Amino acid sequence: MKIYFNGKLVNSGKALISVFDHGLLYGDGVFEGIRTYGCLIFRMKEHIDRLYKSADAIELKIPITKTKMIEAVVKTLKANSLKNSYIRLVVTRGVGDLGLDPRKCRKPTIFIITDTIKLYPKEFYDRGLDIITAHTRRNYPKALDPRIKSLNYLNNILAKIDAIKAGTEEAIMLTCDGYVAECTGDNIFMVKNRELITPPVEIGALKGITRDAAIGLAKLSNIPFYEKLLRMEDLYSAGEVFLTGTAAEIIPVIKIDKQRIGNGKPGEITLKLMKEFRELTKVDGVRY
Ligand code: PMP
Repeated sequence: MKIYFNGKLVNSGKALISVFDHGLLYGDGVFEGIRTYGCLIFRMKEHIDRLYKSADAIELKIPITKTKMIEAVVKTLKANSLKNSYIRLVVTRGVGDLGLDPRKCRKPTIFIITDTIKLYPKEFYDRGLDIITAHTRRNYPKALDPRIKSLNYLNNILAKIDAIKAGTEEAIMLTCDGYVAECTGDNIFMVKNRELITPPVEIGALKGITRDAAIGLAKLSNIPFYEKLLRMEDLYSAGEVFLTGTAAEIIPVIKIDKQRIGNGKPGEITLKLMKEFRELTKVDGVRY
């Protein structure tokens, strides 16, 4: 497997990070997870924009332009002759010393991994997911804004451990004030009275690319949509709940904390959006 590593394509065994890289020492860096459908990189521009926005938010200057970054992604995909793949694009602060000072890191480290995608089994989409509320709260936005897709994912990992301990695939993370924020690696939506509702990202959630796509599809179908602060009680009493994410796409939720959602089956609007999303992945993106 070829990896893009600081401007060159190298074999995976040669793509090695220094122990002094602040991405490793401090989680100081940003990343993106992108997906290709056939030879179409889904919403490539949006992912690249988010990467540069995340970098800006941590005052990390990515040393190559967005155009060059897209070229690098395409070059890596072609070198591995990959279709239907998952792209991990990472920019770290780079090699520094053992102190926190980012000024000691002269040059950001950039690497791109393109690999096959690990999907949830089909039955999860047919039947829907059974999930829980995590004990771990989402990072407080004034401490570390969840809109920054940083290499510091420990908050999410702790909530993922909550999910694993409960025997579920995902967990809902609440803000410190007890509002629904998102899941460990997905955004969350609910449908009630045929209206689509999701929490605003400002309270502490990533502005998901799939989230935006789902909102766009709902608007095209004239499904009323709005952002609103949600409590767990709102989700328990929803007619439908679903999650969105690059890997998961749109996936129904049929149980939360052992409580049945709606009639316990994937709902009508969820199924409609799932179908339309699959169609969208065939046309929306950059071809390589
Ligand atoms: N929230 C978190 C915390 C995530 O890590 C992700 C991405 N895996 C998402 C939401 C979904 O974002 P996207 O649709 O851009 O993949």
